Amino acid sequence: MLKIGISGVSGRMGRKIAELSLNYSDINITAGIESPDCAHYYNTVGEIINKDLSAPVTADLSEVIDKIDVLIDFASNQEAVLGHLRLLAADVNKKAAVIGTTGFTQFQIEEIKQLSKDLPIVLAPNMSIGVNLLFKLVEKAARVLKDKGFDIEVVEMHHRFKKDAPSGTAVKIVDILKKETGIEKVVYGREGITGERSTKEIGVFALRGGDVVGEHTVIFASDGERIEITHRATSRDIFAKGALEAARWVYSKESGLYDMLDVLGLNE
Ligand code: NAD
Repeated sequence: MLKIGISGVSGRMGRKIAELSLNYSDINITAGIESPDCAHYYNTVGEIINKDLSAPVTADLSEVIDKIDVLIDFASNQEAVLGHLRLLAADVNKKAAVIGTTGFTQFQIEEIKQLSKDLPIVLAPNMSIGVNLLFKLVEKAARVLKDKGFDIEVVEMHHRFKKDAPSGTAVKIVDILKKETGIEKVVYGREGITGERSTKEIGVFALRGGDVVGEHTVIFASDGERIEITHRATSRDIFAKGALEAARWVYSKESGLYDMLDVLGLNE
Protein backbone atom coordinates (compact mmCIF):
# COMPACT_ATOMS: atom_id res chain seq x y z
CA MET A 1 0.00 0.00 0.00
CA LEU A 2 1.47 3.35 -1.07
CA LYS A 3 1.10 6.02 1.62
CA ILE A 4 0.46 9.47 0.18
CA GLY A 5 0.37 12.92 1.73
CA ILE A 6 -1.42 15.71 -0.11
CA SER A 7 -0.23 19.29 0.31
CA GLY A 8 -2.74 21.99 -0.51
CA VAL A 9 -5.31 19.37 0.48
CA SER A 10 -8.28 21.70 0.85
CA GLY A 11 -7.65 23.42 -2.51
CA ARG A 12 -9.36 22.57 -5.81
CA MET A 13 -6.72 20.03 -6.84
CA GLY A 14 -6.01 18.69 -3.34
CA ARG A 15 -9.66 17.76 -2.79
CA LYS A 16 -9.94 16.16 -6.21
CA ILE A 17 -6.85 13.99 -5.58
CA ALA A 18 -8.20 12.93 -2.18
CA GLU A 19 -11.58 12.02 -3.73
CA LEU A 20 -10.11 10.06 -6.65
CA SER A 21 -7.64 8.22 -4.41
CA LEU A 22 -10.62 6.32 -2.99
CA ASN A 23 -10.86 4.47 -6.35
CA TYR A 24 -7.31 3.08 -5.99
CA SER A 25 -6.99 -0.07 -3.89
CA ASP A 26 -3.17 0.25 -3.64
CA ILE A 27 -3.12 3.91 -2.51
CA ASN A 28 -3.85 5.26 0.93
CA ILE A 29 -4.02 8.97 1.78
CA THR A 30 -2.30 9.12 5.16
CA ALA A 31 -1.84 12.89 5.70
CA GLY A 32 -3.01 16.28 4.49
CA ILE A 33 -0.92 19.45 4.65
CA GLU A 34 -2.50 22.89 4.51
CA SER A 35 -1.39 26.46 5.03
CA PRO A 36 -1.25 27.59 8.69
CA ASP A 37 -4.13 29.94 7.81
CA CYS A 38 -6.59 27.13 7.22
CA ALA A 39 -5.10 23.86 8.57
CA HIS A 40 -6.86 24.43 11.89
CA TYR A 41 -10.28 24.26 10.21
CA TYR A 42 -9.88 20.52 9.67
CA ASN A 43 -8.86 17.55 11.78
CA THR A 44 -8.91 15.00 8.97
CA VAL A 45 -8.83 14.82 5.17
CA GLY A 46 -12.23 13.08 5.43
CA GLU A 47 -13.75 16.27 6.84
CA ILE A 48 -12.61 18.15 3.73
CA ILE A 49 -14.16 15.77 1.20
CA ASN A 50 -17.04 14.44 3.30
CA LYS A 51 -15.76 10.87 3.25
CA ASP A 52 -14.52 8.38 5.77
CA LEU A 53 -10.80 9.22 5.63
CA SER A 54 -9.02 9.58 8.96
CA ALA A 55 -5.69 11.01 7.66
CA PRO A 56 -4.73 13.99 9.86
CA VAL A 57 -4.40 17.54 8.48
CA THR A 58 -1.49 19.68 9.64
CA ALA A 59 0.41 22.81 8.61
CA ASP A 60 3.73 21.14 9.39
CA LEU A 61 4.96 18.33 7.16
CA SER A 62 7.54 17.21 9.76
CA GLU A 63 4.67 16.14 12.07
CA VAL A 64 3.43 13.58 9.53
CA ILE A 65 6.51 12.80 7.44
CA ASP A 66 6.80 9.30 8.97
CA LYS A 67 3.27 8.53 7.77
CA ILE A 68 3.97 9.06 4.07
CA ASP A 69 5.98 7.55 1.20
CA VAL A 70 5.16 10.19 -1.42
CA LEU A 71 4.07 13.81 -1.06
CA ILE A 72 1.81 15.17 -3.81
CA ASP A 73 2.17 18.94 -3.63
CA PHE A 74 -0.41 21.29 -5.11
CA ALA A 75 0.07 24.06 -2.53
CA SER A 76 -0.40 27.54 -3.97
CA ASN A 77 2.77 28.69 -2.23
CA GLN A 78 5.99 27.93 -4.07
CA GLU A 79 8.25 28.63 -1.06
CA ALA A 80 6.20 26.16 1.01
CA VAL A 81 6.70 23.51 -1.68
CA LEU A 82 10.47 24.06 -1.50
CA GLY A 83 10.34 23.74 2.30
CA HIS A 84 8.55 20.41 1.91
CA LEU A 85 11.13 19.14 -0.59
CA ARG A 86 14.00 20.10 1.74
CA LEU A 87 12.43 18.04 4.54
CA LEU A 88 11.77 15.03 2.27
CA ALA A 89 15.29 15.11 0.79
CA ALA A 90 16.86 15.20 4.26
CA ASP A 91 14.76 12.33 5.65
CA VAL A 92 16.59 9.08 6.40
CA ASN A 93 13.73 6.97 5.02
CA LYS A 94 12.90 6.63 1.33
CA LYS A 95 10.54 9.39 0.20
CA ALA A 96 9.47 10.80 -3.16
CA ALA A 97 7.58 13.86 -4.38
CA VAL A 98 5.15 14.85 -7.12
CA ILE A 99 4.92 18.60 -7.68
CA GLY A 100 1.88 19.96 -9.46
CA THR A 101 2.28 23.55 -8.23
CA THR A 102 3.22 26.03 -10.96
CA GLY A 103 4.75 29.50 -10.97
CA PHE A 104 8.28 28.70 -9.74
CA THR A 105 11.04 31.22 -10.49
CA GLN A 106 14.13 30.03 -12.34
CA PHE A 107 16.01 30.31 -9.03
CA GLN A 108 13.48 28.00 -7.34
CA ILE A 109 13.67 25.53 -10.25
CA GLU A 110 17.45 25.40 -9.74
CA GLU A 111 16.93 24.48 -6.07
CA ILE A 112 14.43 21.77 -7.06
CA LYS A 113 17.10 20.36 -9.40
CA GLN A 114 19.61 20.34 -6.52
CA LEU A 115 17.17 18.64 -4.15
CA SER A 116 16.38 15.99 -6.77
CA LYS A 117 19.92 14.64 -6.24
CA ASP A 118 18.62 13.22 -2.94
CA LEU A 119 14.97 12.65 -3.82
CA PRO A 120 13.01 11.28 -6.78
CA ILE A 121 10.81 14.19 -7.92
CA VAL A 122 8.22 14.46 -10.67
CA LEU A 123 7.80 18.13 -11.58
CA ALA A 124 4.92 18.53 -14.02
CA PRO A 125 3.06 21.77 -14.68
CA ASN A 126 0.36 19.69 -16.33
CA MET A 127 -0.38 16.10 -15.42
CA SER A 128 -2.83 15.25 -18.20
CA ILE A 129 -1.93 12.71 -20.88
CA GLY A 130 -3.45 14.97 -23.54
CA VAL A 131 -1.29 17.96 -22.68
CA ASN A 132 1.82 15.84 -22.56
CA LEU A 133 0.99 14.57 -26.03
CA LEU A 134 0.45 18.23 -27.02
CA PHE A 135 4.03 18.93 -25.85
CA LYS A 136 5.27 16.21 -28.20
CA LEU A 137 3.15 17.44 -31.13
CA VAL A 138 4.33 21.03 -30.61
CA GLU A 139 7.94 19.85 -30.52
CA LYS A 140 7.46 17.98 -33.80
CA ALA A 141 5.59 20.85 -35.51
CA ALA A 142 8.20 23.40 -34.43
CA ARG A 143 10.99 21.17 -35.73
CA VAL A 144 9.31 20.79 -39.13
CA LEU A 145 8.19 24.44 -39.49
CA LYS A 146 11.38 26.09 -38.18
CA ASP A 147 12.75 28.69 -40.64
CA LYS A 148 9.79 28.14 -43.01
CA GLY A 149 8.08 31.49 -42.40
CA PHE A 150 5.67 30.47 -39.62
CA ASP A 151 4.96 32.93 -36.79
CA ILE A 152 4.32 31.21 -33.47
CA GLU A 153 1.78 32.39 -30.90
CA VAL A 154 0.63 30.67 -27.70
CA VAL A 155 -2.80 31.38 -26.18
CA GLU A 156 -3.99 29.97 -22.85
CA MET A 157 -7.18 30.44 -20.87
CA HIS A 158 -7.94 29.55 -17.25
CA HIS A 159 -10.53 30.21 -14.56
CA ARG A 160 -10.62 33.56 -12.79
CA PHE A 161 -9.05 32.20 -9.57
CA LYS A 162 -5.72 31.26 -11.12
CA LYS A 163 -2.92 33.14 -9.40
CA ASP A 164 -0.02 32.87 -11.87
CA ALA A 165 0.28 33.85 -15.54
CA PRO A 166 1.12 32.61 -18.05
CA SER A 167 0.23 29.10 -16.93
CA GLY A 168 3.00 26.65 -16.09
CA THR A 169 1.88 24.64 -19.12
CA ALA A 170 2.27 27.67 -21.41
CA VAL A 171 5.72 28.30 -19.95
CA LYS A 172 6.67 24.70 -20.74
CA ILE A 173 5.28 25.04 -24.29
CA VAL A 174 7.36 28.19 -24.78
CA ASP A 175 10.47 26.38 -23.50
CA ILE A 176 9.90 23.64 -26.09
CA LEU A 177 9.39 26.22 -28.86
CA LYS A 178 12.52 28.15 -27.89
CA LYS A 179 14.59 24.98 -27.84
CA GLU A 180 13.32 23.76 -31.21
CA THR A 181 13.40 27.09 -33.09
CA GLY A 182 16.29 28.90 -31.41
CA ILE A 183 14.02 31.94 -30.94
CA GLU A 184 14.84 33.67 -27.64
CA LYS A 185 12.45 36.64 -27.57
CA VAL A 186 9.06 36.09 -25.91
CA VAL A 187 6.39 38.83 -26.10
CA TYR A 188 3.74 38.68 -23.36
CA GLY A 189 0.63 40.44 -24.76
CA ARG A 190 0.77 43.41 -27.16
CA GLU A 191 -0.51 46.95 -26.79
CA GLY A 192 -0.13 50.28 -28.54
CA ILE A 193 2.07 50.99 -31.55
CA THR A 194 4.00 47.75 -31.43
CA GLY A 195 5.38 47.91 -34.96
CA GLU A 196 5.40 44.92 -37.27
CA ARG A 197 5.76 41.52 -35.75
CA SER A 198 9.29 40.17 -35.93
CA THR A 199 9.76 36.59 -37.11
CA LYS A 200 12.14 36.14 -34.21
CA GLU A 201 9.58 36.29 -31.42
CA ILE A 202 7.02 34.04 -29.77
CA GLY A 203 3.80 35.72 -28.60
CA VAL A 204 2.11 34.56 -25.39
CA PHE A 205 -1.41 35.51 -24.26
CA ALA A 206 -3.03 34.57 -20.93
CA LEU A 207 -6.84 34.89 -20.81
CA ARG A 208 -8.68 34.58 -17.48
CA GLY A 209 -12.37 34.08 -16.83
CA GLY A 210 -15.21 31.98 -15.48
CA ASP A 211 -14.60 28.38 -14.55
CA VAL A 212 -12.36 27.37 -17.48
CA VAL A 213 -10.29 24.39 -16.28
CA GLY A 214 -7.47 24.97 -18.78
CA GLU A 215 -7.06 25.55 -22.52
CA HIS A 216 -3.88 25.87 -24.55
CA THR A 217 -3.51 26.62 -28.26
CA VAL A 218 -0.27 26.89 -30.19
CA ILE A 219 -0.66 28.71 -33.51
CA PHE A 220 1.80 28.41 -36.39
CA ALA A 221 0.77 31.08 -38.94
CA SER A 222 2.37 31.69 -42.33
CA ASP A 223 1.26 33.39 -45.56
CA GLY A 224 -1.61 31.25 -46.84
CA GLU A 225 -1.97 28.66 -44.10
CA ARG A 226 -2.24 28.25 -40.34
CA ILE A 227 -1.86 25.27 -38.05
CA GLU A 228 -3.42 25.31 -34.58
CA ILE A 229 -2.83 22.65 -31.98
CA THR A 230 -5.28 22.87 -29.09
CA HIS A 231 -5.86 21.02 -25.85
CA ARG A 232 -8.97 21.67 -23.76
CA ALA A 233 -9.34 20.31 -20.25
CA THR A 234 -12.96 20.08 -19.14
CA SER A 235 -12.40 18.33 -15.81
CA ARG A 236 -9.73 18.47 -13.08
CA ASP A 237 -9.97 14.68 -12.84
CA ILE A 238 -7.33 14.35 -15.58
CA PHE A 239 -4.74 16.21 -13.48
CA ALA A 240 -5.66 14.36 -10.28
CA LYS A 241 -5.43 10.95 -11.97
CA GLY A 242 -2.08 11.95 -13.48
CA ALA A 243 -0.80 13.01 -10.04
CA LEU A 244 -1.78 9.67 -8.49
CA GLU A 245 -0.21 7.74 -11.40
CA ALA A 246 2.96 9.85 -11.02
CA ALA A 247 3.09 9.09 -7.27
CA ARG A 248 2.87 5.36 -7.96
CA TRP A 249 5.58 5.61 -10.65
CA VAL A 250 8.07 7.84 -8.85
CA TYR A 251 8.28 5.89 -5.60
CA SER A 252 10.18 3.06 -7.30
CA LYS A 253 12.62 5.44 -9.02
CA GLU A 254 16.15 6.54 -8.16
CA SER A 255 16.70 10.15 -7.05
CA GLY A 256 16.38 12.55 -9.98
CA LEU A 257 14.12 15.09 -11.63
CA TYR A 258 11.42 13.60 -13.84
CA ASP A 259 8.48 14.99 -15.76
CA MET A 260 5.14 13.61 -16.88
CA LEU A 261 6.61 12.50 -20.22
CA ASP A 262 8.79 10.10 -18.21
CA VAL A 263 5.79 8.87 -16.21
CA LEU A 264 3.74 8.30 -19.36
CA GLY A 265 6.64 6.74 -21.29
CA LEU A 266 6.48 9.49 -23.96
CA ASN A 267 10.16 10.46 -23.65
CA GLU A 268 12.23 8.80 -26.36
P1 NAD B 1 -6.19 26.36 -4.86
O1 NAD B 1 -5.92 27.78 -4.55
O2 NAD B 1 -7.58 25.89 -5.01
O3 NAD B 1 -5.47 25.41 -3.80
C1 NAD B 1 -4.20 25.64 -3.28
C2 NAD B 1 -4.19 25.20 -1.84
O4 NAD B 1 -2.85 25.33 -1.33
C3 NAD B 1 -5.09 26.08 -0.93
O5 NAD B 1 -5.96 25.23 -0.18
C4 NAD B 1 -4.09 26.78 -0.03
O6 NAD B 1 -4.60 27.05 1.27
C5 NAD B 1 -2.97 25.73 0.02
N1 NAD B 1 -1.73 26.27 0.58
C6 NAD B 1 -1.28 27.56 0.57
N2 NAD B 1 -0.14 27.64 1.27
C7 NAD B 1 0.15 26.38 1.71
C8 NAD B 1 1.19 25.83 2.52
N3 NAD B 1 2.15 26.59 3.04
N4 NAD B 1 1.17 24.49 2.76
C9 NAD B 1 0.18 23.71 2.28
N5 NAD B 1 -0.86 24.19 1.55
C10 NAD B 1 -0.86 25.51 1.27
O7 NAD B 1 -5.35 26.08 -6.20
P2 NAD B 1 -5.49 24.85 -7.22
O8 NAD B 1 -6.38 25.23 -8.34
O9 NAD B 1 -5.74 23.58 -6.46
O10 NAD B 1 -4.02 24.84 -7.83
C11 NAD B 1 -2.89 24.65 -6.98
C12 NAD B 1 -1.62 24.70 -7.82
O11 NAD B 1 -1.62 23.63 -8.75
C13 NAD B 1 -1.47 25.97 -8.66
O12 NAD B 1 -0.10 26.33 -8.69
C14 NAD B 1 -1.94 25.55 -10.04
O13 NAD B 1 -1.39 26.32 -11.08
C15 NAD B 1 -1.44 24.14 -10.07
N6 NAD B 1 -2.14 23.21 -10.98
C16 NAD B 1 -1.37 22.28 -11.58
C17 NAD B 1 -1.95 21.30 -12.37
C18 NAD B 1 -1.07 20.22 -12.94
O14 NAD B 1 -1.55 19.36 -13.71
N7 NAD B 1 0.20 20.21 -12.60
C19 NAD B 1 -3.33 21.28 -12.59
C20 NAD B 1 -4.10 22.26 -11.95
C21 NAD B 1 -3.49 23.21 -11.14
